[in-house]
Amino acid sequence: MIKGDEESAHQIRDILCSLKEYIYYMMSSGVHEIYSGSIDSYEHEVLGRLEDIRRKMRHCTRCKLSQHRTNIVFGEGNPCAKVLFVGEGPGYEEDQTGRPFVGNAGKKLTEIIERGMQMSRDEVYICNIVKCRPPNNRDPQEDEIRACIPFLEEQIDTIKPEVIITLGLQAAQAIVGIRQPISQARGKWYKYRGIPVMPTYHPSFVLRSYTTAVRRQVWDDVREALRAAKEGR
Ligand code: URA
Repeated sequence: MIKGDEESAHQIRDILCSLKEYIYYMMSSGVHEIYSGSIDSYEHEVLGRLEDIRRKMRHCTRCKLSQHRTNIVFGEGNPCAKVLFVGEGPGYEEDQTGRPFVGNAGKKLTEIIERGMQMSRDEVYICNIVKCRPPNNRDPQEDEIRACIPFLEEQIDTIKPEVIITLGLQAAQAIVGIRQPISQARGKWYKYRGIPVMPTYHPSFVLRSYTTAVRRQVWDDVREALRAAKEGR
């Protein structure tokens, strides 16, 4: 290696070391996500507000789910997403990683977003009704939902999506109070604080009932939601 190359290599190594230290510092300060798109000042502001919400719930003990969690699963994605997905609650992989929908149901959801909607995961925002894992993947209970939903409400108020897609019965019940089975509620429009809400099946249900009819219904629901998001409210 000639002298100039050696100096450049040292400089690059120093820059990489500083960058690594900076990332560790950010993580220890509670930043768990780095948005990779180009960011304008509005997006920057929204990201800041989302970080404030995340910070507020960092040591949350509002309900019994806090006792057994490994990580709070806050949510992730585009801070200015037009489409916001709401699931029920974290499962094992989500609890371990602190990220929503990363297990098998998550892979299905990613496929729905990428193949059904022709979008990428980081164009949408993904979160849950409760942010801590219910034991043995049971449904979140009423008191747990009541304790946690203010955080979701703040996320929605901050992101201001054009549409919300709820995944599964629990999410639709919590957001728009539907009473009927999800098979009847899905594919129809509801409203949450003026935002159109489209309930569809939970990706876990799609995996369990892997029929052409169910898959077609989910694709119809998400495409209808996408059409509305593009047209604007
Ligand atoms: N199921 C959910 O409802 N949410 C997740 O984050 C993962 C699985």
